[in-house]
Amino acid sequence: MSAASIATAAYLVAALLFILSLAGLSKHETAKQGWVFGVAGMVIALAATIGLSVHDSSVRGTTALIVAVATVIGAVVGLWRARIVQMTGMPELIALLHSFVGLAAVLVGWASYVEVEDKGLGSFAGSLLRIHHAEVFIGIFIGAVTFTGSIVANLKLSARIKSAPLVLPGKNLLNLSALLAFAILTVVFVLHPALWSISAVTAVALLFGWHLVASIGGGDMPVVVSMLNSYSGWAAAASGFLLDNDLLIVTGALVGSSGAYLSYIMCQAMNRSFISVIAGGFGIEAPSGAGEGEYGEHRETSAEQTAELLAAASTVVITPGYGMAVAQAQYPVAELTRALRARGVDVRFGIHPVAGRLPGHMNVLLAEAKVPYDIVLEMDEINDDLAGTDVVLVIGANDTVNPAAAEDPSSPIAGMPVLRVWEAEHVVVFKRSMASGYAGVQNPLFYRENAAMLFGDAKTKVDEIVAALAAQPAVPVPA
Ligand code: NDP
Repeated sequence: MSAASIATAAYLVAALLFILSLAGLSKHETAKQGWVFGVAGMVIALAATIGLSVHDSSVRGTTALIVAVATVIGAVVGLWRARIVQMTGMPELIALLHSFVGLAAVLVGWASYVEVEDKGLGSFAGSLLRIHHAEVFIGIFIGAVTFTGSIVANLKLSARIKSAPLVLPGKNLLNLSALLAFAILTVVFVLHPALWSISAVTAVALLFGWHLVASIGGGDMPVVVSMLNSYSGWAAAASGFLLDNDLLIVTGALVGSSGAYLSYIMCQAMNRSFISVIAGGFGIEAPSGAGEGEYGEHRETSAEQTAELLAAASTVVITPGYGMAVAQAQYPVAELTRALRARGVDVRFGIHPVAGRLPGHMNVLLAEAKVPYDIVLEMDEINDDLAGTDVVLVIGANDTVNPAAAEDPSSPIAGMPVLRVWEAEHVVVFKRSMASGYAGVQNPLFYRENAAMLFGDAKTKVDEIVAALAAQPAVPVPA
C-alpha cells in the first residue's frame, strides 16, 4: 500500500471522527466523548500529514523536518496556553485562534500564486488555471477578512478596545464598496493575474474585516464570534483546495457549516437578522442614557436576608451570567443548590443562549461544578415558569435579564429575547456595582420594586448565603 493511500484512509477516519465529535459536542451528556473524538481525529490527521510529507519525493527532507518541528512547537504552545487560560479568557483566545486560520489562508493563497507564477503554467492549463486563480483570490479574501475581523473581536472581548460600535459616516456604503471591489478585482485577476490586483484584494479584505467587526455593537458580538468561526472554516476549506488536501476541505466545510448554523441559532435567540448583523446594522444606537434618576431608586439586600428569603421559598430559579464566570462562583452556587434541594426547595437554572462570553459558557461552568443536567433549562423552557417562581437569583447576569430588551423599542438591545426574571415574586441581583452589562445598556430591572441588589463578588456572597442558610431552621420536606 502506498503512503498516499494510507494517508487517504487516515484522512477518511479523521473526517468521520470530526463528524462524531460535532455530534457529541451538541449535548451535555456526550460532550466529553465528542471532545475525545475530536482530539483523536486531529492526532490522526496530523500524523498522516507529517507522514505523507516525509514520504513525498517532491518535498525535500528539510521541509518535512520544518513541518515536524513546527508541529511540535505549535503543540507545546497550544498545551501551555490551554493550561493557563482562565475560563473567562476563552472567548478571546478562540477569536485569536480564528485569526491564525485566516492568516494561514492568506499565506497559502499568496504562496500558491507565487508558486504558479514561478513555475509557469505547469499542470494548470486554460480554464483550470482560471479556476486556480479564483480559488487563490477567494481564499485570500475570506482569510484576510477572518484575520482582521478576529483580531478586532479578540480586542473587544478582552476589553482592550471598547465594545461600543464604530460608526463611520456611510458605513454600509463602505462595506458594499469593499464587496464590489472584491468582485471587480476577482474578474480582473482571473483574466490577467498580477501582483497589484492580489495586493489590492488583500488590503481591501484586511480593511473590510476590521471595519465589519469594529462597527458591530456589543450585544451582537455572539453572532460575530460564531460567524468568524464559520469564516475560519471556509478559509481552511479554500486552503484545502489550493493545497489539494481533501481533509482540509472536508474539515473546513464542517467548521464552516456548523459555524454558520450556530450563527443562525444565535440570530434566532437574539431575534436578529443575520444579514443586518454582519452588515453592522444593529447595536449602533448610542447606549441608553437612562439611569438612577430616571428609573427611581434601587434597593439593597444582604446575604443573611437573602438566606432568609430562600429558606422560606418553595421554588427558586438561578439565572447565571458572565459575572458568575468572572467570580468563579459556580462551585458555591452548586453547593447552594444542594443545600436548598436538601431542604425540599425546587431549584432550577435558566440559561440564556448568549449568557457569558461564548456559546454554552454557563452550561460548561455548571457541569464543571456537577450541577445535575436535568435542572439546567434553556431560556425558552423556563421563561413561562418565572411568573410562578418565589425567588430568582440573578448571579452576575445583566444584559440577558434586561427588561429594556422587551419593553423599550429604542433600546440598542430591543427585540432580543431575555429571561423575564422580573415576573417572579422576588429577584436578588448579585453584582459589584450599578454598572451596565456588556452591551453598555442600563438595566431597569435593578430599580423594580420586587428586585434587590446584593453587592459584592458573587462567589463571596454565595458562600455567605450558604453559611447563613445553614443557620436557618430546617423546613420539613413535604411527603
Ligand atoms: P453581562 O456581560 O451583560 O453582565 C455581567 C455582569 O456581571 C456585569 O454587569 C457585572 O457587573 C457582573 N460581574 C462581573 N464580575 C462580577 C463578580 N466578580 N461578581 C459579581 N458580579 C460580577 O452578562 P450576561 O451574561 O447577562 O450577558 C452576556 C453579554 O455578553 C451579552 O450582551 C452578550 O451579547 C455578550 N456576548 C456573549 C457572547 C456569547 O457567545 N455568549 C459572546 C460575546 C458577547 P459589575 O461590574 O457591577 O459587577
